[in-house]
Amino acid sequence: MRYYLGLGSNLGDPRKNLVRARRHLAGNGLKIRKASSLYLTEPVGFPGQPWFLNQVVQVETGLSPWELLGLVKLVETKMGRTPGSRNGPRVIDIDILLAGDTVLDTPALTVPHARLAERNFALVPLAEIAPRAVHPGLKKTVRALLRESPDRSRVEKASARPEPRPAAR
Ligand code: AMP
Repeated sequence: MRYYLGLGSNLGDPRKNLVRARRHLAGNGLKIRKASSLYLTEPVGFPGQPWFLNQVVQVETGLSPWELLGLVKLVETKMGRTPGSRNGPRVIDIDILLAGDTVLDTPALTVPHARLAERNFALVPLAEIAPRAVHPGLKKTVRALLRESPDRSRVEKASARPEPRPAAR
């Protein structure tokens, strides 16, 4: 099944954290088919914390959505994510945004992700790699969701390379 995962980090070295997360996912058998650019995004819902670095990846796996959720939580734990940091700064956050045509609505797992349609930090990178993917619940393309998004928070493409450090004197 084809999934789209949203990765985000705003603690430590976010760029490295995203690399480590992708490595963990690939190391556990997920085939990463596409990866969006990295985006610097304004924190939503919890002002006063550092901006996030966000990315969306398309992965292919035989795992069910529940099995994938288990893997995602394992990777978050391995990377030092502590529980209870919802909406606060985090080393890594991995969300299942889309899971093929699957629609699930339970407290432990909602796919498509419950807030996908109102989160530019997920929609912008998702639209970069999958503008024509369809949200199976809302029956709209990702491109349409982004156009109609009520979210006004900022999302800026990060430069391809880390900001150069000032030269040592
Ligand atoms: P968060 O703090 O945003 O990472 O949310 C954590 C909880 O959301 C997890 O423990 C999951 O059980 C639940 N959850 C529900 N739907 C999803 C989803 N589509 N992707 C990831 N986590 C989900």
